[in-house]
Parts: sequence; C-alpha cells; structure tokens
Amino acid sequence: MSAHSGNVFMVVAPSGAGKSSLVRALLDRDPSIVLSISCTTRAPRPGEEDGREYRFVTPEAFNEMREGQQLLEWAEVHGNFYGTPRDRIDAATKAGQDVLLEIDWQGARQVRQRYPDAIGIFILPPSIEELESRLKARGQDAPQVIARRLLAAGGEIAHAPECEYVIINQEFSVALAELNQIVSAARLRFSSQAVRNSQLFAQLGIPAAH
Ligand code: 5GP
Repeated sequence: MSAHSGNVFMVVAPSGAGKSSLVRALLDRDPSIVLSISCTTRAPRPGEEDGREYRFVTPEAFNEMREGQQLLEWAEVHGNFYGTPRDRIDAATKAGQDVLLEIDWQGARQVRQRYPDAIGIFILPPSIEELESRLKARGQDAPQVIARRLLAAGGEIAHAPECEYVIINQEFSVALAELNQIVSAARLRFSSQAVRNSQLFAQLGIPAAH
C-alpha cells in the first residue's frame, strides 16, 4: 500500500490543448486539490502574476534550487527551465491532500520515480488544425514562439502513451467532466480508501494491500 493517501495528478499536454483552463475549472469546483506552482525562468505573459501561475525566477535562482535538491523534477521546455518545488508536494501528500501538477512529459517521468502511483492525464487537442488556431488565438506569444510550440507539440504528443488517461478537449464541458471523473475514481482506489477510512477498514478486518 502506498504510504500516502493523497493522490498525485500530473496533467500533461502540448501548449494550446487547453490544459490550464481545464485545470483552473477543476480547482474552482474542487478547491481541496493542491495546485503545484512551478518555478520558471521564462518571462511572465501579460496577465500572469508571480506566485499565481508560476514563480518567475532568474536562471541563477533556478540553478540554486536545482543544486539544493529543492526541486522534485525539472526540465528545459521551449528554451526555458521549469521545475516543481518539492516541499509543498511532499507536505500535501503526507497530509492526505491530492496534488495536481501541470508539467511536461520529462517532468512526469521524474515524478514517477518519487511517486510511482502518480496518475498521468494527457490532454489532446481535437485536431492539429485546432491546436494551431488556439495557439494563434491566444495572442500572447510572438509568431516565432508559436511556431516553436507547434513543432514541440508533436514531440509532447508522442509521449501520450506514458499517461494512464487521455482526454480529448473538443468540448470544454465534456473534457472537464471527464477530468472530474478521473479525480473521483482515483479517490476510490484501495490505497486512498484504506488511508481515509482506516477505522472502518480495521473494524472490518481488511488486510493492507501488498
Ligand atoms: P508555458 O510556458 O506555456 O506555461 O508551459 C510550457 C510547458 O512547460 C508546458 O508543457 C508545461 O506543462 C510545462 N511545465 C510547466 N511547469 C512545469 C514544471 O514545473 N516542470 C516541467 N517539467 N514542465 C513544466
């Protein structure tokens, strides 16, 4: 049985698949899920706030965190560094809270080393044309950045088989309902139920899983 009752959800997607909007809507409905705030060396986009979407840090500060073993995982994505601060995730899962990470496939692999039961959810766009038009419509990135992200999308999508679940984000409300279903199902896993309901399990004489 896992030592933790909190689930670790990793939401992976190419940029433009609608990942962040889905995650935001999920957390609005279910504020008990702890969202991991990553550190990044990329510049904030218009409307982004330090400490909300990301902690925006200098390459030097990022290096310091990396060398100080403060990151659960880190990766270079689209020419910038991104990483997940370790302490918040470890504390939350130990306290039985569910945690959600928005990371790329490289990060997801590293998280599995620490949390083998982590649940990977890959968000796909309904088509490559739709992905391109969503990236352009966002209007926040320069054309060469969009081109680079489109190229990278293929690389990210190639790692979809590493995730347990796939959501095709054609209709937002359907995709959100599916994301909710995955979260609900994870909470019903034996290991989660056994920790959350330890008294009942003991009373019923249910042995621990191997
Ligand atoms: P964006 O710059 O569009 O916010 O994110 C670019 C990519 O970096 C996305 O694929 C996103 O999932 C990924 N990313 C964001 N935070 C992290 C992180 O902490 N670790 C890793 N490995 N990837 C991240």
